[in-house]
Amino acid sequence: MFQITKNQPLVSLNTLAIAANAEFFSQVSSREELQEAIAYGQQHQLAITVLGGGSNIVLTKDIAGLVIHIAIPGIELKAASLNDSSSKLDYERYISIGAGENWHQLVEHSLAKGWYGLENLALIPGLVGAAPIQNIGAYGVELNDVFESLQAVDLHTGEQVVMGKDDCQFGYRDSIFKHQYRNQFAICQIDLKLSSEPKLCLDYPALKTSLQKYDEVTPEQVAKTVSSIRRSKLPDPKYTPNAGSFFKNPVVSAAHVQKLRKQEPQLVSFTQPNGDEKLAAGWLIEACGWKGFRQGKTSVHEQQALVLVNKGGTGADILHLAKDISDSVKSRFGVTLEIEPRVY
Ligand code: FAD
Ligand code: NAP
Repeated sequence: MFQITKNQPLVSLNTLAIAANAEFFSQVSSREELQEAIAYGQQHQLAITVLGGGSNIVLTKDIAGLVIHIAIPGIELKAASLNDSSSKLDYERYISIGAGENWHQLVEHSLAKGWYGLENLALIPGLVGAAPIQNIGAYGVELNDVFESLQAVDLHTGEQVVMGKDDCQFGYRDSIFKHQYRNQFAICQIDLKLSSEPKLCLDYPALKTSLQKYDEVTPEQVAKTVSSIRRSKLPDPKYTPNAGSFFKNPVVSAAHVQKLRKQEPQLVSFTQPNGDEKLAAGWLIEACGWKGFRQGKTSVHEQQALVLVNKGGTGADILHLAKDISDSVKSRFGVTLEIEPRVY
């Protein structure tokens, strides 16, 4: 039976620890409860906002209408089949996961079961249901690489839908849920295809260097190493409120990079499959002198310039700092930075 509260504080439900309230709030633990909550919202003409772990949002005011916090549990092996295209004995593992499961706990659970493919995505905060929203990614792997399908409920009709990979239109930290389907669906389950045979992705320099000491690298070592690199560089939101990378890495033309490199020989960029260049937003911000900068009750993290830290400020304070940063990057490099978290 779903329950509803009024004026629910959200400060402990967003990792920037911004103080704001939900006008109405309901935590749902099953698809049926989710559908009941949506029906309640419709009956009372309330706008619906879906909330997971709150690690990729910026709250600038109280949220009017109904906030639905997804807490749907469950990790289930649905099927296993032999991968014919592999020369080794490789079984594909089809896993269904409730949208309310914690992402990192899913990574650990999968490793314990011998289901591989998620190891590079260790220690990403948040819940499983949010993973398709920005096609979460780290260290050269993204959700898209293991994604099969998802189940969601339409926030306007209450109907359940199933979407495959093509429907989701995954891109670089992007999906259809940030565009055409923004505010349209609550994801209640995702299905992944993992593998019994490790296929490791060790291209990122920090990962490669740290794993050099092992003769043979296992997925468990990859996850452990990713976690330890992340702990050494990234602030833990429990103690240092933040929303991870505040800006996406901008992708620009090769011609633009060529021009920039004449004035900025150290510029960091990565060639994309279509010939465009991905710039490291953290490098651009650091080059503009922002690393460690304190502005009122906000700051730029000392180790990672891409992370903005809240020190008791508001969402508006954070956005003010973000604007000053992107203005200075634009004026020095002619590059527009796009905010990654969803601003409410
Ligand atoms: P929330 O912040 O609750 O929601 C984010 C958006 O998704 C909102 O628009 C919300 O409405 C929507 N949403 C959430 N759940 C659902 C659902 N079930 N159905 C429909 N819509 C939903 N991201 C990366 O990609 N890679 C990283 O390496 C990474 N590292 C991070 C490190 C730190 C320290 C932090 C704080 C964040 C990091 N992030 C990273 C960002 C964040 O963890 C991910 O985007 C994560 O998937 C957000 O999950 P969440 O449950 O907290 O989503
Ligand atoms: P890093 O390893 O210092 O690298 C800096 C940037 O260079 C990253 O943004 C990364 O792009 C890019 N990069 C490095 N090696 C690359 C390669 N071989 N090919 C293509 N691109 C390469 O980055 P970091 O800040 O410590 O983060 C490590 C990983 O965790 C990154 O993948 C990052 O995206 C992820 N992360 C994401 C968030 C978030 O909130 N979104 C927060 C923390 C960490 P990519 O970002 O495209 O990978």
